[in-house]
Amino acid sequence: MSLRFNLIAETAAGGRRGRIVLPHATVETPVFMPVGTAGSVKAVAQDVLESLGAEIILGNTYHLYLRPGHDAIRRMGGLHRFISWPRALLTDSGGFQVFSLNSLRRVTEEGVQFRSHLDGSSHSFTPEHSIDVQIALGADIIMAFDECTEYPADHTRAEESLRLTMAWARRSLAHFRAHRHEVPWNDFAASVSRPAVVRASTPPLGSATLNPAQNGVPQVPCTGGPGMDVSESEIRLRTQCLFGIVQGGMYRDLRRQCAEQLTAMDFDGYAIGGLSVGEPRELTLEIISEVLPLLPKDKPRYVMGVGYPDEIEQYARMGVDMMDCVLPTRAARHALLFTSEGRLNIKNKQFAEDQSPPDPACTCPVCRRYSRAYLRHLMQAGEPLSATLNTIHNLAYYLGIMHRLRASLESPSLAPETRSCSSSPTTDH
Ligand SMILES: [Zn+2]
Repeated sequence: MSLRFNLIAETAAGGRRGRIVLPHATVETPVFMPVGTAGSVKAVAQDVLESLGAEIILGNTYHLYLRPGHDAIRRMGGLHRFISWPRALLTDSGGFQVFSLNSLRRVTEEGVQFRSHLDGSSHSFTPEHSIDVQIALGADIIMAFDECTEYPADHTRAEESLRLTMAWARRSLAHFRAHRHEVPWNDFAASVSRPAVVRASTPPLGSATLNPAQNGVPQVPCTGGPGMDVSESEIRLRTQCLFGIVQGGMYRDLRRQCAEQLTAMDFDGYAIGGLSVGEPRELTLEIISEVLPLLPKDKPRYVMGVGYPDEIEQYARMGVDMMDCVLPTRAARHALLFTSEGRLNIKNKQFAEDQSPPDPACTCPVCRRYSRAYLRHLMQAGEPLSATLNTIHNLAYYLGIMHRLRASLESPSLAPETRSCSSSPTTDH
């Protein structure tokens, strides 16, 4: 078993409160997943992510493939162990980054040839290679190789792009089914000495176990979630799961066609991709509304690359279970803080002697300890701590939205406490 999805509650509007049991963690949904592009959520250490309540983070296949390389990560036991992250991981297929290279790539039926942005060296990704790389990295959830259709694209172009995505989805799935046992922690999990039945629990915050035999490298436990009884045989069977990605540009007929064909292939979960690529927000909403009802109710639904605080809340209320976005982390490094009072540009002169916390309603470690004036000073002085503190607050804000939303979905009588910023697209996406 690679994934178990439990639907705990559902609202009349389609919002879902769920739980995804994965090999390394149980993830409460709806969930926001911080992006850790190159094996690091920029500026924030793993123990801090744990203390903020992040249960799953993303890794980026393209970047990790180029540096340090998937074979090196496999030899070190997989990405969980390499970056010392005992909770769940998701990797993208590498496709999105390759397609964003524009002049450095060439697409054929077989796959994509591209040049590294680091040194110009030539590489290629095929569906099979992308899956091989993702198996070597060993994330709990991996993604089918797809073509992210650009925006705008006319119907003929979007249809051709979708044809490629569907062919690549079939190849990704076939290759995954043939090779899923090769994940680096599969043998590791089976070789760990455990009683026949263990009571697994989420480890205490910051508690990756240090094993002297591993030269101080934290062991990554392969556990179930809180309150789960996990048998040895079940642990042994656990491996990665593969999500299919619904594409089709901004065309409802193509999206429908894609969703129907993908669900017939029986992936472990489904993503809606090709959004937040420059289209107006009403179109994003229209596509999500079109696709969600076509996806199986008993599997997780993931909208890739969104969004602003009010967007993630809106989509979760419609029935999206998982979302990721670079916005809270990237914006933080550019002085933009999301708060219950709206967006703050912490560089503004008005904060020069403002002794109030960044967000008076926030209980994150940054808001409990530091003032707006200090955060402004760090930014003005170019101190690296600026990126760290800003990012911790923004992530806490995003994770807090999801935390309160989960409570309100579970008990619809509880009014949601989330207050969001107004939103408009920026180049941060
Ligand atoms: Zn805060």
